[in-house]
Amino acid sequence: MSDNLLHDSPTEFLHEVANHQGECVAQSVIPRDDGVYVVACSCEKWETTAPSREEGLRLARRHTGSIG
Ligand SMILES: [Zn+2]
Repeated sequence: MSDNLLHDSPTEFLHEVANHQGECVAQSVIPRDDGVYVVACSCEKWETTAPSREEGLRLARRHTGSIG
């Protein structure tokens, strides 16, 4: 696992966000009804969409600087 927590559960994610407001401690990749994945971060300053879960995770890691 990487340093950053990735949650499938929106509930877990929101709990994490509440504890660390404004920090990039947790990212979520949540599938939308139209097949697009919504990628969001606990800092609440970053949100994007991805065509797949894998791509969403990649974008999340790039946002937090975990990968170059
Ligand atoms: Zn962030």
